[in-house]
Amino acid sequence: MAKINSKNLVCKTLTGFEKSLGFVPPQVSVLAYHSISNNKSIVDIDLKTFQKQIDFLKKNFQFVNIDEVFEYVEGKREFVHPVVAITFDDGYKTVFENAFPILEKNNIPASIFVLSDPKHADRNSLENNNPFMTVAQIKKLHSKGWAVGCHSATHPEFADPNLDFKREIFNAKKTLESSLAVKMNFYVYPKGVYSEKIIDQVKKAKFKGAFSFQAGDVSKSSNHFAIPRIPVDWTHSQEQFEAFFTNWGLKYLQTKKITEGRYL
Ligand SMILES: [Zn+2]
Repeated sequence: MAKINSKNLVCKTLTGFEKSLGFVPPQVSVLAYHSISNNKSIVDIDLKTFQKQIDFLKKNFQFVNIDEVFEYVEGKREFVHPVVAITFDDGYKTVFENAFPILEKNNIPASIFVLSDPKHADRNSLENNNPFMTVAQIKKLHSKGWAVGCHSATHPEFADPNLDFKREIFNAKKTLESSLAVKMNFYVYPKGVYSEKIIDQVKKAKFKGAFSFQAGDVSKSSNHFAIPRIPVDWTHSQEQFEAFFTNWGLKYLQTKKITEGRYL
């Protein structure tokens, strides 16, 4: 049973109240996950919690991938029902081993943002030592309909003024495209850190768009290079998770900075 705390209670109340008034909920949401396992690392959500979240999403949404979300932002696609896109950052092996079977069983497409040089990943920046997927595993997910995007070469601190753009944006794209034989259309900034200068480099590298960690619903006025995503982590109760998909719940959680967890 979920811990009763004031945050959960507010979420539950707001969610119920908004529903009873018949407000139109956010129509397009993108969720940002990292790792699904029972290992209890900083990036993990346990399997039981993930399954419960998927059960809720299945009841309320249709699932889309990031290409469809981007077409919507561009004004090239409409959705009849509320939709959600599930994304995973960093490319952890647990996504292949634990999340993939659950999602495949439910026919849910997902998207992953991976590193082009995981062997040299900045483990200080990632704050964990979880193993990454192999190229073969990423290819397998892509063959099953998963979208694959770029999340830098080594996941360095993007706030570093000496950041190597060439390695982390331009070469990362080229390397992934040649090793996976998949076009890299979208970028995710490590830890969600970006600036005008960084966006400019991502544009120059010919990415079509990029996703952020700014929680919010996606709209046709979303910045193509900072499309909102809602970060989900182990600190979220089911009440808080469900509140992400209401206007008032989302606003409330935004004022509470969404979570005490970490965005990597
Ligand atoms: Zn990351």
